[in-house]
Amino acid sequence: MTRLDSVIRRLTAQRDLLNWAAGEIGPTGLVLELGLGNGRTYDHLRTKLPGREIYAFERSPAAHPDCYPPEGYLIVGDIFETLPIFIERVGQGSAALIHTDIGTGDEAANRQLALRLSPLLDSLLQPGGLLIADRAFEMPSCTDISSQTSVPEGRYFVYRRN
Ligand code: SAM
Repeated sequence: MTRLDSVIRRLTAQRDLLNWAAGEIGPTGLVLELGLGNGRTYDHLRTKLPGREIYAFERSPAAHPDCYPPEGYLIVGDIFETLPIFIERVGQGSAALIHTDIGTGDEAANRQLALRLSPLLDSLLQPGGLLIADRAFEMPSCTDISSQTSVPEGRYFVYRRN
């Protein structure tokens, strides 16, 4: 498999799961995009979930100009500083859907990042809420349902809050 094949497979899995999640989540609850990046997945989420409150988090905003959230919905800063404050504001159990792909090519660092982020995300999800992630997380209040999706094992990860 070439690196091009690998990128296409990852992005296809990402899009398939976001499409699936948009039909799966309940009618209430926030949607969070952790790592706005270029704004591609944010754009997809807002298109699939019109009218929904979608917050994006990013420490270095540099998205495509058409893909910025409206005022008040882009939370700028390191997520480990901004997310705890956000949780205090909106309350635990407020999110219906969280998507995250904020890792790098450093697998050890990615593992550490996921371990640090896990308790925050675990507390943010409402019952039935979904975490869609590009890596494995430790989510004690959730069930790992990755194998129940159409995406091949290990390519993308899905957790549902119990
Ligand atoms: N989902 C995006 C898209 O489709 O365009 C791509 C996201 S990109 C792979 C990851 C983004 O996460 C980067 O823009 C990076 O700046 C951001 N990021 C990484 N670590 C972060 C952190 N600790 N706090 C806030 N943002 C972070």
